[in-house]
Amino acid sequence: MERILNFIDGELRPPVGNAWLDVYEPARGTVYAQLPDSDSRDVDLAAIAAQRAFATWNALGREGRSNALLRLADLIERDLEGFVADESRDNGKPLSLARRVDIPRAIANFRFFATAILHFSSEAHLMDDVAVNYTDRQPFGVAGCISPWNLPLYLFTWKIAPALAAGNCVVAKPSEVTPYTAYRLSTLCNEAGIPPGVLNIVHGLGPKVGAAITAHPGIPAISFTGGTRTGAEIARVAAPMFKKLSLELGGKNPVLVFADCDFEQMLKTTVRSSFTNQGQICLCGSRILVERSIYDRFRDAFVERVRALRVGDPSDATTDLGAVVSKDHMEKVLSYIDLAKEEGGRVLCGGERVVLQDEMSNGWFIAPTVIEGLGPARRTNQEEIFGPVVTLQPFDDDADAIRSANATPYGLASVVWTSDLQRAHRVARQLQAGIVWVNCWMVRDLRTPFGGMKQSGVGREGGLDALRFFTEAKNVCIKL
Ligand code: NAD
Repeated sequence: MERILNFIDGELRPPVGNAWLDVYEPARGTVYAQLPDSDSRDVDLAAIAAQRAFATWNALGREGRSNALLRLADLIERDLEGFVADESRDNGKPLSLARRVDIPRAIANFRFFATAILHFSSEAHLMDDVAVNYTDRQPFGVAGCISPWNLPLYLFTWKIAPALAAGNCVVAKPSEVTPYTAYRLSTLCNEAGIPPGVLNIVHGLGPKVGAAITAHPGIPAISFTGGTRTGAEIARVAAPMFKKLSLELGGKNPVLVFADCDFEQMLKTTVRSSFTNQGQICLCGSRILVERSIYDRFRDAFVERVRALRVGDPSDATTDLGAVVSKDHMEKVLSYIDLAKEEGGRVLCGGERVVLQDEMSNGWFIAPTVIEGLGPARRTNQEEIFGPVVTLQPFDDDADAIRSANATPYGLASVVWTSDLQRAHRVARQLQAGIVWVNCWMVRDLRTPFGGMKQSGVGREGGLDALRFFTEAKNVCIKL
């Protein structure tokens, strides 16, 4: 069976402890590879290699680093189909989605930050005839980057690209559930001309490898994307060490549908924003709030569209939903559907596991599920399910919609559907969410801030903010 290896100091290596974990293919429910069950010894080696490589990486200057990252982007593009197939096999997502979204966006991450660093300038502040201040932004050395399983290469590169472009070396840990695309990336780094030790990838479990990165005294900044509970644990360890912290966490995103919206456009996009990647995108809408006057019309039309979605083989071009990422995750999502029923919710469609034929009969598939009849305070509407499950709730007016939308501990993303321009602005200002999409979803300009409010995270890491996060700002004040 194939073994995924760590990438440390420019070499593919087995873990020091020679221990291994299984990697599953969600659509088949079978093991297809093994990955290192690394520990703090592997993280130590990676951190030492990264510290040693820092001077070399900086000596390349912005242009040299930019060129190396652009070459890496070109190599991913050259091997696009390989990455697409790995991403789909690892994660269970439709191949077409990996080809359309995940891998192109991973390439875009490298290109965006490789070129952004060339235009990254410092501010100067003149104090009349007294003094001139300028901001000197320098990389701090080694960044720790920890990423989740839902958009494996996309979110992994979202962290490492700005860290590297800013001039840092990196110790990174992809999710143990979906390690393969990060492994494939590691096989291209030498060819791209990235010096040994600049990017180190240590595979393994969160409480071992992730915790060792978080606690490592030689890694002064942690950029993390994942669950809110894990984020709290990372903050607990990193905060007393005064590490720089960026936490991109969970969500329970509302979609607000006003009666004056473009109904057809809204319907089409809301099906996508609910079920793309089996609902396993942190930005998916999971609570659909609908103005009461069109609630019945919306519910009937929405359920009809959702029933028509095809759950199936991720490699089949006609598949809309593939498998959810793991058996544990499938059981968690199904348990939330049970909870919704216990709370008095009505399942309008879906609500169960889907068993496919033949070699996919053990795959982890769930029918897209729509539930109504639950108020905003119910656990189903409070807790992140992170699967193909959405709830519908009617609202009476703007204030009622905003109240329900804001009534969770989370504040990541939101969507507003209305043709009333003033309402769009008014509602957008009042939503407690780091992103508000009006009449669209998942449209991303990488220059904009990205991240959540409340328990969805701290440290918006979009565009130039990410380059700022991955540098230390120093003010130099010169007396005139
Ligand atoms: P997770 O928190 O379980 O794991 C994320 C990463 O953290 C993994 O690499 C894991 O191994 C590691 N980890 C686990 N325990 C750790 C510890 N004690 N110390 C350090 N690292 C540890 O999350 P997940 O299940 O992989 O991903 C799903 C979650 O990610 C959802 O909550 C989703 O909303 C969130 N997410 C957020 C965003 C965003 O941009 N805000 C994007 C994607 C996913």
